Amino acid sequence: MKRKIKKWALRLSVTGLLIAVLLLIIILNPVLTYANKTEHASFTIYHQKPIDSLLYVKLDEAAVLLQKSEFYNNKLKLDICLNDGSLYPTLIRKLRGRAFAWGFYDKVVLQGKMNEKGNYLELNGYKWNLIQLLAHEMTHCVQYDKLGLWKSKPIASIPNWKWEGYAEFIARQNQDQTDLIRNIDRLEQAPKDSWEISFEDGTISPREYYNYWLQVQYCLVVKQMTYDQLLKDKKSETDIKKEMTSWYRSIKQKATLSGTRRT
Ligand SMILES: [Zn+2]
Repeated sequence: MKRKIKKWALRLSVTGLLIAVLLLIIILNPVLTYANKTEHASFTIYHQKPIDSLLYVKLDEAAVLLQKSEFYNNKLKLDICLNDGSLYPTLIRKLRGRAFAWGFYDKVVLQGKMNEKGNYLELNGYKWNLIQLLAHEMTHCVQYDKLGLWKSKPIASIPNWKWEGYAEFIARQNQDQTDLIRNIDRLEQAPKDSWEISFEDGTISPREYYNYWLQVQYCLVVKQMTYDQLLKDKKSETDIKKEMTSWYRSIKQKATLSGTRRT
């Protein structure tokens, strides 16, 4: 009986291992689950349906945003996996959970419904700016490229705010997003119980990511740290938040005082 149990346990673990290897092969080779593959600049786009040529413009614009990263590598080639009927995005969603998109290794996997003309990707009624979403996920690929798989999330224990906040910092470069004071103002003015923070173009950022972004913006712009220094820095998220809030309050106070003096 014992020998039988052992035999079955061995069979089960071998089957499990084979399934894991098969999954890994499929994940690393989107070509297996897509009908079409199109090359554009440093991107390989995997798709089922014909591509809207506007997508090329969005990819190019996202690639320009990416150049702001100190980890930028112009030789990096990325796979862009569209959510237009292939099993691939569903598989990634089953493995990693529901999201607007996923960026890992050298792959950007879109979820939700993409609207190239409106420049957004919609999920559950929320819209994410498409160029900025692409740039966000590409930033994760740049993080993988520079840090290596073992020093990247989820294997390395990098705090979420440093990982996601940096992707937001690189992606959010619209004119109305580069001033930290204005960004904190937007957060202060948002309804307190809302899940999302809305931008002027009608797209959103989840409140959690919005906070991460501002903290990274504070460290990199106000404190003039490099991203590499931020990754090594030992200060907690709470400390940075406190520091940023008192910096914001003091600037607001100064602005009020000089306004009072003028009147
Ligand atoms: Zn992300």
